[in-house]
Amino acid sequence: MSSKNNSFSLSRRNFLKVSAAVTAATGMGFGANMLNIKKVSAEESEKLAKSLGNVEVKYTADVMCPSECAMEMWVKDGRITKIYGNDSCPFNDGACCAKGASGMQLIYSPERNKYPLIREGERGEGKFRRATWEEAIDYIGKKLVEIKKNYGAESVIMDAGDVTDRDQYYRLFHAFGTPNCVEHGSICDTPRRHGPKLMLGGKRIEPDVMRPVLVRQPDGSLKKDYTYYSKLIIYVGWNPFVATRINYESRGTVGAKVENGCKVIVVDPAHTNTASQADQWLPIRPGTDGDLFAAMLRYIIENDNPNDPLKKYIDWSFKELSVGWDEFEKEFKSWWGKTDPINGKSYFSLDWATDRTGLPIEQIAQVAHEFGITKPAALVWGMQSPGHHYNGYPASILGTALNIITGNIDVPGGAIDTELVKSDKGGDAKGSSLKKKKVKRLVDGKEVEGEVEHLHMDWYGDWPAAWDDVVGDYPRRFREGVALNYGPLKGHKYPIKGFMIRTGNPVMTGGNTKDWIDALTAKDSNGNYKVELVVNIDTLYLETGMYADVILPEASYAERMSLSDVYPSHQVLWLRDRVIEPLHEAKCPTDIMNMIAKKLSELGDADFKASDFWDKYKSEEDFVNEMLAPAPGRNHAGEPIPYPHLPLGYKLQGTPDSLDAGRVTIDHEKKVVKGELVTVDWMRKNKGVAVWPMSWNRFKVFDKEAGKHVASKAVAKTNSKLFEFTFSAYDKYNKLIAETGIIPRGLKEIGYDKYPNTFYWFETKWNPYTNKEYAKYKDEYPFQLICGRVHHAMTGTQMVPWLSEAPVEGIWMPLNNSFKHKIIDMNANNELEEVEKEFKENTFCVGTIAINADDAKKLGLKTGDLAILENPLGAQEKGKVYVTEGMRPGTIKLGFGTGGRFSPGIGPTSKNKDYTPNHSGLVDPNAHSPIMGMPCYADMIIKVIKA
Ligand code: SF4
Repeated sequence: MSSKNNSFSLSRRNFLKVSAAVTAATGMGFGANMLNIKKVSAEESEKLAKSLGNVEVKYTADVMCPSECAMEMWVKDGRITKIYGNDSCPFNDGACCAKGASGMQLIYSPERNKYPLIREGERGEGKFRRATWEEAIDYIGKKLVEIKKNYGAESVIMDAGDVTDRDQYYRLFHAFGTPNCVEHGSICDTPRRHGPKLMLGGKRIEPDVMRPVLVRQPDGSLKKDYTYYSKLIIYVGWNPFVATRINYESRGTVGAKVENGCKVIVVDPAHTNTASQADQWLPIRPGTDGDLFAAMLRYIIENDNPNDPLKKYIDWSFKELSVGWDEFEKEFKSWWGKTDPINGKSYFSLDWATDRTGLPIEQIAQVAHEFGITKPAALVWGMQSPGHHYNGYPASILGTALNIITGNIDVPGGAIDTELVKSDKGGDAKGSSLKKKKVKRLVDGKEVEGEVEHLHMDWYGDWPAAWDDVVGDYPRRFREGVALNYGPLKGHKYPIKGFMIRTGNPVMTGGNTKDWIDALTAKDSNGNYKVELVVNIDTLYLETGMYADVILPEASYAERMSLSDVYPSHQVLWLRDRVIEPLHEAKCPTDIMNMIAKKLSELGDADFKASDFWDKYKSEEDFVNEMLAPAPGRNHAGEPIPYPHLPLGYKLQGTPDSLDAGRVTIDHEKKVVKGELVTVDWMRKNKGVAVWPMSWNRFKVFDKEAGKHVASKAVAKTNSKLFEFTFSAYDKYNKLIAETGIIPRGLKEIGYDKYPNTFYWFETKWNPYTNKEYAKYKDEYPFQLICGRVHHAMTGTQMVPWLSEAPVEGIWMPLNNSFKHKIIDMNANNELEEVEKEFKENTFCVGTIAINADDAKKLGLKTGDLAILENPLGAQEKGKVYVTEGMRPGTIKLGFGTGGRFSPGIGPTSKNKDYTPNHSGLVDPNAHSPIMGMPCYADMIIKVIKA
């Protein structure tokens, strides 16, 4: 295969044309009213609200998407009348997107879960009867007690979904005795986080573009600073302009570009909205981002010359801050001598990379050179790319290495691991200490003792390296149960009998849809469901709710309290305050927690005490105060020094003002500085937001004696407190493997008998261009399938009809058949009312099949035609195609969770299920990423058949 034939490149003219088309499409659907949001300061806003009479201004946090922006809501006569962004929070700096502004259509939706429901028909039929809270809690309590008695508490999974206020549910189920309390991370971007976790002890690397930041000035004052320093940002499979859960990245990227001339490069098979604003789009072949990173690293190593300013790529001072580079480099280089069986070329060479990525050789060399030479720069990789591939691990390790060796970690304008620098919160509210409780289990007739934690299905089962409870193979667990391979309770086996699912919708987005449905509806020989209890706690009635035995209506985000802080570049927290009282019969998580705890206590479960629940947390505020207590909880580090009068390296606790004024006590032994604790009251007096000063270079400190920077050891959370190129985080798992001789299933799959302690490499699945095993499928299944988030049409928010006026990137387009549906809409008096609305043909956005124009021509397809997608496993999905220039040939893109929606609870969108494709329908149910067990959402090949 020649690299030229293999390459797809757009001319500058076509690039601009495609960019313009995508940008236009983005704006096209927003009604003038939606865009006409004027930014005013919090003070101006409060004044304006008061002048309107009986209007109360409340500060809270959004949950219309996982960005959870800080919001300002106006309330009149107990109803929300306006939604704005909160100007006091640097995360979104007053910004509120169309989706956030549409929140009222969700909060006041007639399709919300209004009261508890108990199933009457079979799972999936959607037949429920109205129940009282007492009845529903009694049903759940009795079932939980029965499961605990018959199978052990660990047989219940609590999946608390994709919002940050999940601690109440964790506390409840940790007390119950199951360590299997998980969240949406199990299906999110786990391979993406792996490199930062191993090498920094962190999670997500983002560009330093959150502005404003509060910065200490030389005169001692604090300044709200909007200065951008970034010179180059490379987004790989990351589309912050559309898919983000990080609000500031879209604003900040444009800010850095306009104000600091920052170059933006987007590497993505699809011409996303982010690509439309970039200087360069590299339409890479799906599943080859790691190949690009490997080639960049090899190029940088081979061409680095400290004496040539044009080739001074590596900032060798990184060695002062790290361990293991020599071993990493040696292992990386050892691959150069090997020949790739798929193309016969030397691993990681430019020649090899061009063949695999489909990018021209000069482009790969150029991006490697530019990343090496431009400082500060940030290389950022995303959820839909390394995050969703079987082999995303080597990609995220290489990406992290590239950021470290070029000196870009935590410098102004560089790359920041947000997990390491955001505020601490939560404390023991989620009840982690309860996992230390001793338990006894019978193993082979012998009683053995361990801790609740040792019952964890992931850490002691098939995926020991699955930190953050990340295994996404629940359907298999439901069918096969759990066998503990490691730890004191090794040999203990248990079934999964209870599934508590809150706010998530795994039937549509947790892996293969059919696999999920089969697992939740499987029956034993007596005709009873194998999973004996499925409870759905949600504000909305989504597909997973249709398979529940009990549905509990949770208060919407405007009706409950908690905290937010989604990946900021330093310590900032904002309050989710209760804006209105819960509507209908909905209850907030703290009340649901207390009700279930009390019921379990009444039913004789001695693990539940009043002092841990209903006496301790008499209100939501009590719970949130406990969550706030540790904030900001990070070590005092970096430049400019946040608090020059406080000792560096000490842990800070307390309100920004008390730390600033020195109203603190200092414990030199424990190295803790304690000011006045942050409380809900304090937050309310400060527009719901606490912001501590920003600093950079937090991983190092200047050693006057040595005359150079040395590691601060104040931020990195690795065992060595240094950047690690030899992965000590794997040591504990290797110890378990050595003790038992049991090799985890994922490792076996990729041919390792223990976790490698430095650089490693393996190929992805279902990719005929990089993995020889799949080469035979190339001709029959010529398309690679990828998916992308549609920001305003995620699994819950597709029920908001206003958002179906906004097309996205060819995967969410106005291609509906005509239909009628009851919705709530604004009337002439600017009030929401229920109306029967007719949606004419091609006026309402639906999930589509985005296909390259040349590919479509060859297949005789045009926009709006129906097509069938079929994978080699025989699964099919039907949908309407959208023909676009903005797609790499041979690639098909679908929205994630946008198509095939069949729950009546998602409103008008459910009317389109028969001609919209469900991406999860094509995912291989048996493909789980080998280290952490996540579904391989972006590894599949298909053929396209005209319907
Ligand atoms: S980005 Fe997300 S959290 Fe922020 S306003 Fe929009 S929908 Fe709300």
